[in-house]
Amino acid sequence: MICERPQPRPEYDTIVVGAGPAGAMAAYGAVERGPVLLVEASALPRDKSCGGMLNEYAQEFLARIAPLPRSMVLDPAHVNFRYVDWDRSIRKPTGLRFLNVDRGEFDDWLLSFLPDDVEILGATQLIGFTQDADGVTVTLKRDGVEYAVSCNNLVGADGARSAVRRALGEGSVSTYVTLQDFCVLGGELEPYFDCIYMRDVGDSYAYSYVVPKGDVAIVGSVFYPKTKRPHLKQDLTMTMLRESFPQLGDTVKREASVALSVRSPGDVIPGRGRVLLVGEAGGFMSPTSGEGISYAMNTGRTAGEAIATSAPAEALDAYARATRHIGANIHRKLKWLPFMESSWGKYLAGFVPTPVVSRITEGL
Ligand SMILES: Cc1cc2nc3c(=O)[nH]c(=O)nc-3n(C[C@H](O)[C@H](O)[C@H](O)COP(=O)(O)OP(=O)(O)OC[C@H]3O[C@@H](n4cnc5c(N)ncnc54)[C@H](O)[C@@H]3O)c2cc1C
Repeated sequence: MICERPQPRPEYDTIVVGAGPAGAMAAYGAVERGPVLLVEASALPRDKSCGGMLNEYAQEFLARIAPLPRSMVLDPAHVNFRYVDWDRSIRKPTGLRFLNVDRGEFDDWLLSFLPDDVEILGATQLIGFTQDADGVTVTLKRDGVEYAVSCNNLVGADGARSAVRRALGEGSVSTYVTLQDFCVLGGELEPYFDCIYMRDVGDSYAYSYVVPKGDVAIVGSVFYPKTKRPHLKQDLTMTMLRESFPQLGDTVKREASVALSVRSPGDVIPGRGRVLLVGEAGGFMSPTSGEGISYAMNTGRTAGEAIATSAPAEALDAYARATRHIGANIHRKLKWLPFMESSWGKYLAGFVPTPVVSRITEGL
């Protein structure tokens, strides 16, 4: 429930920073031990730039919580991942199947599960914190006023540019630049989540994707960190894509964002002391496919359970143990990155058998 309270109380059992899927699930579990404050820097409901594709692991996770309301599923409800080598006109469908949701409604729905013992404060930012053997003191800013609030455990669920992670001295993970155009659909698109490699856009370009979403299509592009003038490059990809997809009408909205670019095993950090890092804040995301929702929900829920079942000083150890296999899965995927990003890897991808694609993407 979104809180009408104008300011936080002085003390909670757990404070969770960030109201994405990782933060929502962490609060959901942690409240079993005591009152939780969930703070979100944006006004709620928040608007997260995303493709809104739920992979099989996200779907399995949700099946254990509650059936997804049909109203948030967009048309076509399911899309299969298809690899497209633009220059050689290769379209290679795979068996990877996604549920196609409205991301804003999905995030809001996750928050609706939180009981009254979780206070949710939108437009409230974590500024910093200190921790010692007795607990954590968090500084929050709301309506220009700063508040010191104490807790037994702090959960950093604050995404790719996590302030909690930086304050722990764990550095930050580099980020891709992402742009998404929402285009009016002038005709039906095939039910695929097309991932498109084009050689003419330049070295800073990773790939584009096209996916139908009800009355519109999302056309996204991912650029390597520190790309200059990404808007111009997105204009170029839009022009090229429209030649092959005449169904793509005018762009009604363009959004720019960042996505985590996990490059090494050291990018994955479960936290330190009484502070737990979940979702993208902890580096939990697929380095090979950019899928993060399943990782966020799973690590958030695991952190919440660790807090609910452990003494505050032991919650991090319990969480780190329970997420070791997720870290190992990310390490395994990282080994594929140099191949996937090389020009010969992109060339060979058109010939890679479907079971190998499944192997590269398998796990959370
Ligand atoms: C363009 C794009 C497309 C994507 N498409 C997909 C997809 O189709 N499928 C998929 O599985 N994944 C996708 N992802 C990845 C996915 O969106 C993320 O991995 C997922 O949202 C991570 O969840 P999270 O809870 O860790 O963080 P987030 O969802 O990023 O939430 C973090 C929250 O913390 C808040 N916050 C940050 N700093 C503070 C602070 N100091 N104080 C308070 N609050 C703070 C932010 O406002 C934000 O709301 C995509 C990402 C991008 C950028």
